Amino acid sequence: MKLSCRAASRLISIGMDRPLGMGELLKLRMHLALCGNCRQFSRQLDALRDAARRAGRGDDAPGD
Ligand SMILES: [Zn+2]
Repeated sequence: MKLSCRAASRLISIGMDRPLGMGELLKLRMHLALCGNCRQFSRQLDALRDAARRAGRGDDAPGD
């Protein structure tokens, strides 16, 4: 079963909030392997989440 770009980007967004199911993850991985647009979208969201996390923590030195 193929995933549309629309469905793929939705899965990417959902995956930012909670872990995806095995079936969803597999379908998404397969789509990302073939679709550069969605791969880029996934990277952008990843970078955003990373930046947000860093901003939230202020510093990435291990807490003590
Ligand atoms: Zn796509």
